[in-house]
Amino acid sequence: MNLLPEFRTLRPATLGEAVSALSAQGAQALGGGTDLLPNLRRGLGQPATLVDLGALDDLTGIAVLPDGSLRIGACTALETIAEDALVRQAWPAIATAASLVAGPTHRVAATLGGNLCQDTRCIFYNQSEWWRSGNDYCLKYRGDKCHVVVKSDRCYATYHGDVAPALMVLDAQVEIVGPQGSRTLPVAQLFQEDGAKRLTLQHGELLVAVRVPPAAQWRASYVKVRIRDAIDFPLAGIAVALTRDGDTIAGLRLAITGTNSAPLLVPTETLVGATWNEATAVALVQAVRKTSNVLLTTVAAVKYRRRVLLAMTRKVVDELWSDS
Ligand SMILES: Cc1cc2nc3c(=O)[nH]c(=O)nc-3n(C[C@H](O)[C@H](O)[C@H](O)COP(=O)(O)OP(=O)(O)OC[C@H]3O[C@@H](n4cnc5c(N)ncnc54)[C@H](O)[C@@H]3O)c2cc1C
Ligand code: SF4
Repeated sequence: MNLLPEFRTLRPATLGEAVSALSAQGAQALGGGTDLLPNLRRGLGQPATLVDLGALDDLTGIAVLPDGSLRIGACTALETIAEDALVRQAWPAIATAASLVAGPTHRVAATLGGNLCQDTRCIFYNQSEWWRSGNDYCLKYRGDKCHVVVKSDRCYATYHGDVAPALMVLDAQVEIVGPQGSRTLPVAQLFQEDGAKRLTLQHGELLVAVRVPPAAQWRASYVKVRIRDAIDFPLAGIAVALTRDGDTIAGLRLAITGTNSAPLLVPTETLVGATWNEATAVALVQAVRKTSNVLLTTVAAVKYRRRVLLAMTRKVVDELWSDS
């Protein structure tokens, strides 16, 4: 049986204490632990200290701010977000994405911050220590070669988070606090396309909340394809936000997950002003194909993941267009 490595846990009572604890060498944030703890049990990582954010009341809860935007604390459970009446009514794509993460027992413990910051995944990495050592490890952890892109000098492990793309198409921002103070970033800029260094967070920083502007005329949706509907990560996922002015696309944002080392916004600017017809659908599918980089990082075939991604693109926009 795999055991957890030795580490210390701290449960700070204030944000200041949390930042100070996370600034120490080898410290790592702990949300619900549903991503981090299974990885540690597999020998992936050896933190000296886990900083449990669960006692920070300021990081929990859902509120609508005076300007009509939504603020969700980073330690809010995904189940709470998925069930929240206001989120479901005004920002349904976020509630849907949260409701599709893992299984029900995970969602009760799993937090929004942990969901965004979850590790990237690869069939050569999410394995037992015994399996990985038998394959000389890999570039991401303890090794010097990538088995997926053999001549690569970077890791291509895939980001499979469900909530990030829904937030990205709604133009959401993340509030970050760290040793240098606080800052706010568009959600897309929290990520970088490197499977071994997926986040742009600096040492000691943590996510405090996510802020989403009023949905106004935007209609948005999130869909994913997975092996078992009851529990699995997305083999591919897509979020779309659309505004329509008569027969014209007035605004279009699209983000993908489960395909690259980061959730990515697909360039759609050239389609704004067009109508939604066959030519526009072909151009959008092409843009998704160009942005995505599906590799052999999951047990499902690359060709299948690419095909469902492209098929979902057209279907989601079709549905949003008809409903607008
Ligand atoms: C069987 C199984 C199926 C899963 N299926 C899915 C799925 O379908 N979709 C999906 O998106 N995920 C899935 N997951 C992964 C995971 O359960 C979720 O992503 C979950 O939301 C992680 O949240 P958490 O609070 O448990 O994160 P944790 O495990 O606590 O943390 C994850 C990472 O985020 C960091 N972190 C946590 N909170 C913060 C913060 N506030 N600021 C900065 N860093 C922070 C931690 O240091 C760690 O690196 C699955 C996991 C399992 C085991
Ligand atoms: S993509 Fe390559 S370096 Fe990254 S985890 Fe997989 S095998 Fe390792």
